[in-house]
Amino acid sequence: MARFTGRTAIVTGAAQGIGAGYAKALASEGANVVVADLNAERGEATAKEIVADGGTAVFHRVDVSDAESATALADFTIAEFGAINHLVNNAAIYGDMKLNLLLSVDWDYYKKFMSVNMDGALIVTRAVWKHMRKAGGGSIVNQSSTAAWTYSSFYGLAKVGVNGLTQQLATELGGANIRVNAIAPGPIDTDATKNVTPDVIVEDMVKRLPLKRMGTPQDLVGACLYLLSDDASWVTGQIFNIDGGQVIR
Ligand code: NAD
Repeated sequence: MARFTGRTAIVTGAAQGIGAGYAKALASEGANVVVADLNAERGEATAKEIVADGGTAVFHRVDVSDAESATALADFTIAEFGAINHLVNNAAIYGDMKLNLLLSVDWDYYKKFMSVNMDGALIVTRAVWKHMRKAGGGSIVNQSSTAAWTYSSFYGLAKVGVNGLTQQLATELGGANIRVNAIAPGPIDTDATKNVTPDVIVEDMVKRLPLKRMGTPQDLVGACLYLLSDDASWVTGQIFNIDGGQVIR
């Protein structure tokens, strides 16, 4: 399948982990991909891997919590590929996040965290949506988490915000033929998860899943590409759990 030939997609947080999986899958179906991340070294390497595999990708450094940086990302994408058709808002502070309670987290850290993990999706959407409208429409996938429904302090709160943003933006952008959906993964086996979640907690989580294994980035790409593609042309404002049955709603 090559559902994205001639289309341009920006994936934030694509230097590694799940975002890199999305970027590679989009390129394998023909998209021009902008690997957008704070981490230039890893981001460059991911873009090079995609090109070595025969895809089209370039790296651009972005801080999703900074509106000027997001506008520069949109301008770069237009200069490089001429249009923006798809956006995946995947970037987040995750692998090295603090694990304090909402009641005690350092206030400056909390504000920074929310500006990346929640506002980042809105900031980048605000920077790109007019370009999508100009292209006749487009699609956006936001990266949520089952943490939105299981107590996970400010990390979960940011994902509740991402779910709300998904629904609100789907409403605001439908008239421009821009669809906005979200994916809420359960525990995914990435380096970041290994870093932030002790093995015993992961083992306990997996024991309680209906499908008794951790997910992989590969488990998520089918849903992400479906939601971005024309196959989902009448789907918007939805939050899809890809989680081994962790949260049944
Ligand atoms: P990761 O830490 O490997 O990837 C996050 C990426 O975002 C990194 O490349 C990082 O450099 C980038 N980033 C951080 N701050 C940024 C900023 N301000 N601007 C631009 N880029 C920035 O984590 P991952 O496991 O691949 O997770 C990716 C996404 O999936 C995150 O949104 C995470 O919350 C979500 N998620 C992960 C899991 C899991 O179990 N791994 C489960 C549910 C949801």
